[in-house]
Amino acid sequence: PITIMKIILLGPPGSGKGTQAKLLAEKLKVPHISTGEIFRENIKKQTEMGIQVKSILDAGDLVPSEITDVMVKNRLAEVDCANGFILEGYPRNLHQCEALDTMTKLDKAININVSDEEVTKRLSARRTCSKCKKIYNLDFNPPKVEGKCKCGGDLILRDDDKPEVITNRLNVYHESAIPILEFYKTKGILVDVNGEVGLENVLTEILNKLGVSNQ
Ligand code: AMP
Repeated sequence: PITIMKIILLGPPGSGKGTQAKLLAEKLKVPHISTGEIFRENIKKQTEMGIQVKSILDAGDLVPSEITDVMVKNRLAEVDCANGFILEGYPRNLHQCEALDTMTKLDKAININVSDEEVTKRLSARRTCSKCKKIYNLDFNPPKVEGKCKCGGDLILRDDDKPEVITNRLNVYHESAIPILEFYKTKGILVDVNGEVGLENVLTEILNKLGVSNQ
């Protein structure tokens, strides 16, 4: 039987949300939707929207809701989302929680817990492939060849992973996190996991709490 799973992943930048979302999406055979990734794609392709949001992303600020909400609504309306999805990067404030609530009914909101100290350490060491988007970490998952992805692409430090921007992103995150977590706790669908135990263990804890076996 197909269990429809509509899931959002919450947690600070650098909590491993993107990585877990990708692994979960593969496991559950549903699409992985990342609002940050959609924005970066649009910037790269220099679409009208991309040009509009570039300076906002570079500063680590939030893109206005008029743009973000419509983008998410349209994406969730695509046929591949009918059997579920893993949404990550949205919602980022109470307004977005309420907007999402009118678009679909979620099954679970998974909150990945990681301390500010660990976040800062991880983001400064994060490098992203400019070609295939693979993520490396200079401390615990370095590339074989310095500065190069295994696909041959150049590894870059995201503009918003620069130290002065990390602090702003963490402030933006904390301001909004409390009401968001409260929103899903009240709905009874909030699931907390420890994000500081290694990628495989985090995935196992999530799957256990979703009642899915990790085979
Ligand atoms: P992320 O990859 O999730 O860290 O997102 C990167 C950037 O994209 C953020 O710092 C924001 O500028 C923008 N962004 C992503 N998701 C949202 C959202 N739900 N609302 C507003 N801005 C967003």
